[in-house]
Amino acid sequence: MAERKPVGRFAPTPSGRMHLGNVFAALIAWVSVRSRDGEMVLRMEDLDTQRTSGEYARVLREDLAWLGLDYDRETPPQSRRGAVYDGYFRRLDQLGLLYPCYCTRSQLHSVNAPHLSDGTYVYPGTCRELTPQQRAAFGRSPAWRVRVPDRLWQVEDLVQGNSTWNLARHCGDMVVRRADGVYVYQLAVTVDDGEAGITEVVRGMDLLSSAPRQMYLQELFGFAHPVYAHVPLLLAPDGRRLSKRDRDLDLGALRVSRKPEQLIGALAFSAGLIDRPGSISARELAKEFSWNKLRRDNLVLRGV
Ligand code: GLU
Repeated sequence: MAERKPVGRFAPTPSGRMHLGNVFAALIAWVSVRSRDGEMVLRMEDLDTQRTSGEYARVLREDLAWLGLDYDRETPPQSRRGAVYDGYFRRLDQLGLLYPCYCTRSQLHSVNAPHLSDGTYVYPGTCRELTPQQRAAFGRSPAWRVRVPDRLWQVEDLVQGNSTWNLARHCGDMVVRRADGVYVYQLAVTVDDGEAGITEVVRGMDLLSSAPRQMYLQELFGFAHPVYAHVPLLLAPDGRRLSKRDRDLDLGALRVSRKPEQLIGALAFSAGLIDRPGSISARELAKEFSWNKLRRDNLVLRGV
């Protein structure tokens, strides 16, 4: 049977100008899908309305166009999808998997709470079995958590290889809606990717631990699992991690003095996708793209 055309996505958070690390993840998502004649979808992840803006979203679209990273459709931004997420939230409730959680931030992060070696905490289930009377006594609106099963999830990642996760030990019951009514990233991204028919999720390595959480929600909502590829993080030439605060390697600064082909060439060379430093367009790079060429460890930016 012929392979179904892949559907990939850009899912940027419009909270600032893209830096080269963001561009790198977007580039790999694009070349992977376009090298197989697939479709690209753009979605603005603006759940955090304090940090994001329509103006950043506009500049982001403009930067993608400048880079030559086109897309076939844009789906509605997350900030406008509350009613859709409500429907999925109700489904979790019907499955008997939700419960209200009244824990405060300081309780959750206290030194007595169980933590993993990377500093993230595992929710110990404090509010799991509260009685209706105990719930009412808090007198404030709760966050909502979904129970996670004690079972293994296998993430088969095109870049990171296979890894096994048990959510009960890794994060515990997950918040899906915050006390202020805002849905969390894990729920929104699962619903949006599922409804858009995304078959391939390419993003930064820092989101690898989100994959098993999203796989669990995909299963509950009846969505197929996409293929995952978590690409290495890109480090500045001096070894520091890029962030939106480092304005030197964001597109606002770089577009003044560089051409898109120069930036794409530097990224492709740093990642092992081309043998020699030099300029290349995204379209040319797609012609010779293969996951096997991509380096797997952290990438130090060279040639920019
Ligand atoms: N919106 C996230 C970001 O900009 C990406 C989420 C995802 O790709 O699942 O880092």
